[in-house]
Amino acid sequence: MMKWWGWGDQKITFPMHEKPTLWPWISSKLNMKSERATPPVARKDVAMPPPTVNHAFLAALKEKLKADQITSDDEARLHHCYGKSYPNLFLARKGYIQQAPDLIVYPRSHDDVVAVIELANKHDVCVIPFGGGTNIVGGIDPREDGDRMIVTLQMTQMSRLISVDKMANTATIEAGALGPKLEQDLQAQGYSLGHYPDSFEYSTLGGWLATRSAGMQSDAYGKIEDMAVCMKMVTPAGTIVTRPFPASSAGPDLNRLMCGSEGVLGVITEATMRVHPTPAVKDYRGFLFKNFESGVVAIRELIEKNHLPSMIRLQDEGETELAFNMKSPPKGLQAFVAKGVKGYLKRTGYTKPVIMVVGWEGLEESLVHRREEGLAILKKHGGFALGKSVGTSWSKDKFNMPYLRDWVMDRAVMCDVSETAATWTNVLPLHAATTAAVKEKFKQEPSGDGYVGCHISHTYETGCCLYFTYAAVQRPGQELEQYYEYKKLVTDTFMRTGGTLSHHHAIGYEHMPWMEQEVSPTGVEALRALKAKLDPKGILNPGKLIPQKLEVSTEVAKIPADGIEGWGAQSFQPKTLQTATYEAGSD
Ligand code: FAD
Repeated sequence: MMKWWGWGDQKITFPMHEKPTLWPWISSKLNMKSERATPPVARKDVAMPPPTVNHAFLAALKEKLKADQITSDDEARLHHCYGKSYPNLFLARKGYIQQAPDLIVYPRSHDDVVAVIELANKHDVCVIPFGGGTNIVGGIDPREDGDRMIVTLQMTQMSRLISVDKMANTATIEAGALGPKLEQDLQAQGYSLGHYPDSFEYSTLGGWLATRSAGMQSDAYGKIEDMAVCMKMVTPAGTIVTRPFPASSAGPDLNRLMCGSEGVLGVITEATMRVHPTPAVKDYRGFLFKNFESGVVAIRELIEKNHLPSMIRLQDEGETELAFNMKSPPKGLQAFVAKGVKGYLKRTGYTKPVIMVVGWEGLEESLVHRREEGLAILKKHGGFALGKSVGTSWSKDKFNMPYLRDWVMDRAVMCDVSETAATWTNVLPLHAATTAAVKEKFKQEPSGDGYVGCHISHTYETGCCLYFTYAAVQRPGQELEQYYEYKKLVTDTFMRTGGTLSHHHAIGYEHMPWMEQEVSPTGVEALRALKAKLDPKGILNPGKLIPQKLEVSTEVAKIPADGIEGWGAQSFQPKTLQTATYEAGSD
């Protein structure tokens, strides 16, 4: 089971011992004067709020489901309190539970979900659809204003590969399937979905669809919504069912409406997805460019000439520095060669180089031409080939990165990510404006400095996704205010410079203040109307995605005046958290 206070398997910690320069580099980047230990509290120090029970609902539910499908056990409740955002983990690590679900329910079929939603609607009980719980915008945290019972619907027991249509290249899969199980089942039939988000090991098909997720090979296969052929979604008003067509003009596309619905309109129970023969070749390589701009120009030409690889990721100067420090230093002959290459690159103008990782996947014969043409374009723009080992070590470290966040949070570091997408016209200005704004903000930190880096991934004809990571030493007693200051600064900068509110992390409650700016006031009204029709009592995932009032604000858990230390079991005050508010765009 996933850690309740962090990422991944309880037994795994970030392999810092394999990366001797990494922590010294991070400490100097953040201008950390001394190391402060901030480990998570022990499990015994976490006080769970007592569950609210709707007895009529519970009795009716017990008639419909088996006993082992329902639990109010504190351990299960704790594991379903929070997603994996920085504020989520910060609060969990302090043992502070803002709100907890009162009951965890494990449906095993579409009919089980129908039964739960019908009863919840009848008895006015809130339901939060929950896949892997990897959301990082507050999408699965209970946020009920009143005193209704809250049920978390844990979907992972619905994980069957229902059927594969080999003629149509489609597969019908239950929505609770976790990434590894889904790929294992498909690959046993010679197919792959080709959707590999960084959270792949712990996230589900339903979660991907409900958040419009993007996997690392989206350049080749598209985002998850591009792969959805048809779906089933259970709502309090009934079940929406779409049928499998390659394309259709039967009114607005309801598949697109279900994708990105974040559990506020219904529960996705199954989906028919486009699948692809398992790629025979996976060829990943690294390149150095003289600067970020020349890498961007190279990507644009790959797209224009139709030679885009299956995956492309361009790291800026900040992220390249991080990548160099993730590596174990070379030894012996390797070190000698590396020194020679470094000298040559410096002499030829790669003084502040940036890394590009490029991957080609598919059948060798279909790749040859695309790869040759692609390599020529990369070379033309100064791409210096680093070979396949860079691609391999990047693929290996990719799934380690979330463990690094836990490691630095143990040492009083704030670390988070914000992502957006912009048209090519806006990509470089947005990158420059966001980097500059964050660097300026670091000057106000007591330590006076911090880390910011960005990579481009998920490319399109019209633009791409930009993914920023930033870190600074935590301000003791003001950790959440500090985080929300950066969140607001970065998001306001995205909105001002032509970026979307989110390319693939979704809205949850953290991004709600900017929804009107993103989709227009009438757009928000349209979403409200839809919600009112499908879920008139507002039982589904309250407080997420659709702002209910025109003036919305993000709630910030306020740290008590005497600081966060000792803020644990004793000071727990359910539903009476003080709040600080801000509005999108305000200073
Ligand atoms: P959950 O977190 O359980 O739920 C997410 C939302 O979907 C909630 O609103 C929930 O109510 C709703 N939901 C879940 N299941 C259903 C259902 N069956 N029906 C209706 N609604 C449902 N995202 C990416 O797109 N690409 C990445 O590369 C990526 N990398 C990440 C790396 C890390 C370390 C972390 C922590 C997160 C990352 N994410 C990424 C974000 C997250 O993994 C995605 O949003 C993912 O799609 C969530 O899937 P999940 O199964 O964990 O859903």
